[in-house]
Amino acid sequence: MGWESIKNCNECGKVFAHPKNSICNSCMAQSDEDFRLCVQFLREQPDESATFKEMSEATGVSLKRIMRFVREGRFIVKGFTNLKYPCAHCGELITEGKYCKPCKEELSKSIHFSEEDHFNPNYNGYLRE
Ligand SMILES: [Zn+2]
Ligand SMILES: [Zn+2]
Repeated sequence: MGWESIKNCNECGKVFAHPKNSICNSCMAQSDEDFRLCVQFLREQPDESATFKEMSEATGVSLKRIMRFVREGRFIVKGFTNLKYPCAHCGELITEGKYCKPCKEELSKSIHFSEEDHFNPNYNGYLRE
């Protein structure tokens, strides 16, 4: 591995080496565990009124990390109308996909844009039945 793969972990700041990952192995393992806790939290909800703040409080997972899961497209939370997160383009609060409707329309005018490229609903996500 060359120098270019040595970097600081985005989560804990420790120096580590990996060609692609932006967080170190121990944060990666912790992050998977946190994701599991969040999914479990959603499964245990009696209704669909949960918010990300409640999720953070109940699981002990930081909102920052939960937002990272969201950005990575790991949460599929259709039905949970209070689970809002900012549109990746303008910051408008949305509950589905990666962009709000106006941004999606705007971006879809660009021929190279496809939401699937940015948001993969099948990626290790939580699908609510
Ligand atoms: Zn780390
Ligand atoms: Zn937007």
